[in-house]
Amino acid sequence: MVNHQTLGGPPAALSPEDLAVLRADLLEQRLFRREQLRQLAAARPSRVGGQRREAAARAEVRAKLAASARMVLADVEAALARMAEGRYGVCHLCRRPLPLEHLRIVPQARYCGGCRRGRDAER
Ligand SMILES: [Zn+2]
Repeated sequence: MVNHQTLGGPPAALSPEDLAVLRADLLEQRLFRREQLRQLAAARPSRVGGQRREAAARAEVRAKLAASARMVLADVEAALARMAEGRYGVCHLCRRPLPLEHLRIVPQARYCGGCRRGRDAER
């Protein structure tokens, strides 16, 4: 009757201390990305002495930076939401706990190494 997977805190072997450190990383990353997006949005194409092609190239770079910043920001916010719900630190596909050393590098990670390689190969 009792499903042990739904009982008790995070399923991963993460201590409260580990979670606190990872959460601080995520919050810092969120702040950084928000600030980056704010700056990118505030950047105006300068017309002073600029070649139109250069301005277009810079706008393209900004658009790419903003797109990737938004992607990371979404991942970071999703990770914080999972953390708040106690579902943080497991692979979305195979449900295995993500290794702490992996989370320390990419705290917003959704997939374990094996599943991520599988997904990349699909593309
Ligand atoms: Zn997996």
